[in-house]
Amino acid sequence: MIKEIEMLDALFKHATEGIIVSDKKGAIVMINPIAEKLFGYNKDELIGKTIEVLIPRRYTTKHIQNREMHTKDPHPRAMGIGMDLFAMRKDESEFPVEISLSNFNTSSGEYIMSFIIDITERKKQEITIKNANDEIKNLNIELENRVSERTEELANAINRLAESKQEVMRALEKEKELNELKSRFVTTASHEFRTPLATILSSVSLIGRYNLQEDEDKRLKHINRIKSAVNNLTEILNDFLSLSKLEEGIIRDNPEPLAINIFAAEITEELKTTARSGQKIIYKHLGGSKLVNIDKQLLKNIVINLLSNAIKYSPEDKEIEFTSSVNPGGDLNLVIKDNGIGIPDDDQPLLFERFFRAKNAANIEGTGLGLNIVKKYVELIGGEISFVSKLNEGSQFTINIQHKDIGY
Ligand code: ADP
Repeated sequence: MIKEIEMLDALFKHATEGIIVSDKKGAIVMINPIAEKLFGYNKDELIGKTIEVLIPRRYTTKHIQNREMHTKDPHPRAMGIGMDLFAMRKDESEFPVEISLSNFNTSSGEYIMSFIIDITERKKQEITIKNANDEIKNLNIELENRVSERTEELANAINRLAESKQEVMRALEKEKELNELKSRFVTTASHEFRTPLATILSSVSLIGRYNLQEDEDKRLKHINRIKSAVNNLTEILNDFLSLSKLEEGIIRDNPEPLAINIFAAEITEELKTTARSGQKIIYKHLGGSKLVNIDKQLLKNIVINLLSNAIKYSPEDKEIEFTSSVNPGGDLNLVIKDNGIGIPDDDQPLLFERFFRAKNAANIEGTGLGLNIVKKYVELIGGEISFVSKLNEGSQFTINIQHKDIGY
C-alpha cells in the first residue's frame, strides 16, 4: 500500500503536465512541481487560494460561473473547446494553455483535477505555419494575378492584331475599289467619250462646209451640238473626279451662311442654257427663312446633278419645277420635279447604286454615277434624299437638310 502511495506521489511529481487539484469551491489543495514551474509560484503560495489567481483577470467572472456549473454536473472534459485559453503567471504574464478537467470523490469530499499543458511552443509553430500558409496564399494570388494580367495582355495583343488585320483588309478593299473604279473609268470613258467626240468631229467638219451667209442656222445648230457634247464630256469627267475625291475622303462639309433663293435662282439660270428646246425650268422659294447654313459647293453639285437629270430625262417642251422652302425649325427642303420618262418600278430600288442605269435610259448618255455621288454628298451635309417616280409621267426628287446653326 505504501509502495502504491509512493508511486502515485512520484507520478504526481514527475508528470510532464502541470496538475492542480482544487476543491468544490475552487480552492487549490495540491499542485505538482511542473505546475509550480509553469505559473512561477511556490506551492505554499497557492495552497488555499482560489484557482482564479492563475487566470487572467478579464476571465475571472466567467471562470467562476463555468466552474460552478461544472460542479453541479461533474464529468471529465477538455476545457474551453474551440477557445484560446490563457493562464497567468505570478508576474502576471500570460501564456496559452490546454486544460482538461477531471472530477473525483474521496472520503474528505469532491475534488477537481486540472491537467495543464503550456502550448506556447505549439502556438508559435501554429503561427509560423499560418504565416507560411498565408505567404503561399499570397504567392498563389500573385501568381493568379500575373497569369490573368498576362492573359489580358495576350488577349489585347490578339485584339490589336485582329484590328490591324482588319485595317489592312479595309485598306486593301479600298485599294481594290479604287482600282475597279479606275478600270471602270477607262472602260466607261472610252465608251462614253466616243459619241460626243464623234458628234463634235462631224459638227466641226460640217461647220467648215457651211460658209455661206444663209447657212447661219445650220452653223448655230452644230455649234449647239458641240456645246452639248462638250458639256456631256465635262459631266462624265466631273462625276469621276467627284467619286475619286469622295473615295479618298478628301471632301469635307464646310457649312456657310447662304441665301438659298439667290443661290437656287443662279443655278437655274445656269442650267437653262443646257435645257432642250422648249424646256422650262421654274424655280420658286415657297416660304420660310431664306438664310441657311450649308456647304455651298456640295449643295451646288447636288442641285446641278438633279436638274441636269431632269433635263436629260425629259423630252422637249416639258416643264421642270424646282422649289425650296425652309420650315420654322430651319430645315431646308428642296424639290426637283420633272415630267420626263420616269423610272421603271423594278429599277427604283437600285437607283443610287454606283453605275446603275435604268432600262429606259439606255439610249440616253450617262455613266450611272451622278445619283450615287448626290446621295453621298447629301449624307455628307447631314441630309436625306428620296424620290417618287412614275414611268412615262415623271420623277420628283426631294432633299431634306436639317437645320445647322448659322454660327453667328
Ligand atoms: P446617269 O444619268 O449618268 O445615267 P445617274 O446616277 O444620274 O446617272 O442616274 C442613274 C439612273 O437613274 C439614270 O441612268 C436613269 O436611268 C435614272 N434617272 C435619274 N434621274 C432621272 C430622272 N429625272 N428621270 C428618269 N430617270 C432618271
